Amino acid sequence: MGYWNTKAETMPRDRLEAWQWQRLRRAAEHARRHSPFWAGRIPEGLESPEDFTARVPLLHKRDLLGAQAQSPPYGTWPSIDPAEGIRHHQTSGTSGNPPIRSIDTARDWVWSTDTFCTALYANGVRSGQRGMVCFGYGLFAGFWGMHYALERMGCTVFPSAGLDSTSRIDLLLEHRIEVLGLTPSYALRLIEVAREMGVDLAREANVRVILAGAEPRSDLTTTTIERAFGARVFNAAGTTEYGGVFMFECPHRRNACHIIEPSCYDEVLSPDTGLPVPYGEEGVRVTSGLSREGVQLFRHWTEDVVVKLPHSVCGCGRTWDFYDGGILRRVDDMCKVRGVSVTPVMIEDVVRSLPGINEFQASIRTIRGLDTVHLRIDAGDPGGESGRTLRGHLVERFKREIGIRPEVELAVPGSLPRTEWKATRLHDERAHRPAHP
Ligand SMILES: [Zn+2]
Repeated sequence: MGYWNTKAETMPRDRLEAWQWQRLRRAAEHARRHSPFWAGRIPEGLESPEDFTARVPLLHKRDLLGAQAQSPPYGTWPSIDPAEGIRHHQTSGTSGNPPIRSIDTARDWVWSTDTFCTALYANGVRSGQRGMVCFGYGLFAGFWGMHYALERMGCTVFPSAGLDSTSRIDLLLEHRIEVLGLTPSYALRLIEVAREMGVDLAREANVRVILAGAEPRSDLTTTTIERAFGARVFNAAGTTEYGGVFMFECPHRRNACHIIEPSCYDEVLSPDTGLPVPYGEEGVRVTSGLSREGVQLFRHWTEDVVVKLPHSVCGCGRTWDFYDGGILRRVDDMCKVRGVSVTPVMIEDVVRSLPGINEFQASIRTIRGLDTVHLRIDAGDPGGESGRTLRGHLVERFKREIGIRPEVELAVPGSLPRTEWKATRLHDERAHRPAHP
């Protein structure tokens, strides 16, 4: 569907890597000179990417919080005088931590907007289209960049903060809106409301492209959204700490999320050994930002589990490597269900302890107002006696081992995708699930 920046997106790999190193060295030098926090972590005279990864320590969230706490609100982290900032954003500060506060200069914001343009253009958004951003337009950076990107691309943008779902659907219909930005869970909510209004979105609305980002989702969710809207749905992600979009799904290959490599230097490291893992293996994404000057990131341990594949596997012509399936899960993927901590491993342990289950899928759902673990199991013949007996045994054992009674559904044999099971074993599908940082 075309490139927003052909030169950058199709640059030969060796030139791209040389360019990345040049930018990384410059960014690190800027940080070392201007940020007291980075001055203590970045040595002088870095000579190569290998030298950089050997001598710059990993950055954890607690390090940023510590830097902020030294002299609030921004602490020793910024590489500029905060008065040079034109935007303040912050994370929601969940799980007892204060928020991470970030600041962008005018140049940072131009770059951040450009990362959204790259993702939108790749997925077919063009000048003259109309776009709506379903988002609160508050302190959280979220889809702010999408709003600015649509403007820059020559689209007409409809900011819809404060509107309820019914009003948003009316707006979609009235203005024949073609582009939507929202979270997957909110997309599902819009579908539900449209159904209640008697509106068939696929037939009556005009949506072509949906950026459903900011949270992990199942392939099933994607398909449900695509069918209901009759539109293409793509994934993209960014973070407040990083300041822009770092990956977007390619229209050429489902789940191939290209890394915007001219702007970030990403490593994929084993959570156990801290050493780089090869292409195709799961590891934690560790990122360094090459483009931002206000607040900067070097070797940020994101806690996101990814699998990187070489660009050539996609075949769209981009020379940017990609994360297969985007962010698969957090490295410490633990959920609270009615006060009980549940991890994918705990569930797997129970399910695997029963012979006869070929495959399973676990999710946390709100069923009749109550959060519960929902399991779909492939136990051979779904109508057979063995399947029903096995279901009974699984419910009993699960309740005994974990302390919650699960809902167990017998799936059609062979219908559960193996890759998805390995990738995201526990989907949190609750509507009130907290959004991405
Ligand atoms: Zn591609």
